[in-house]
Amino acid sequence: MCGIFGCIADDAAGKVLEGLRKLEYRGYDSAGAFLFNSKSYLKKCKGKVADLEKKMDGDNLSTYTIGMGHTRWATHGIPNTINSHPHISNSGKIFIVHNGIIENYASIKQILIEKGYTFKSETDTEVLVNLIEEVKKSNPKLKIGKATQIALNQVVGAFAIVVFD
Ligand code: GLU
Repeated sequence: MCGIFGCIADDAAGKVLEGLRKLEYRGYDSAGAFLFNSKSYLKKCKGKVADLEKKMDGDNLSTYTIGMGHTRWATHGIPNTINSHPHISNSGKIFIVHNGIIENYASIKQILIEKGYTFKSETDTEVLVNLIEEVKKSNPKLKIGKATQIALNQVVGAFAIVVFD
């Protein structure tokens, strides 16, 4: 059972790590964090929240005010850094953490590949973030919330997500 966390707050980095520590009891194999102010920061790894903290240690994270975090329980793809969340869309603009399973990810992935999308991970999650991107690309006026709703209408499964554009 993975955990997802998102916040808009001062010291987003500290809050994400604190949130992930509180979610550890659910069990997991990897951890990751995404932070944003005017630039993006992404760190993830196989292992524990303490391993993620070590990777983040020494980075100046005090100015970040938006954050999301994930503890992964792998269902699609082995536990490794590439399959860890957060995942990024092909444009590099949309970030996601995801708890659950997208049952029809393979057919959606095939459609996206035919449209020119490429995938780094083996996860169903990376398919979802690119489906959201494709919805947005086809309807450029849509805000991220609406694009996500439309994308979610096309997926089958059980899931909770945090999305950032
Ligand atoms: N299905 C996703 C994956 O394998 C999310 C699993 C989870 O809930 O942690 O990465």
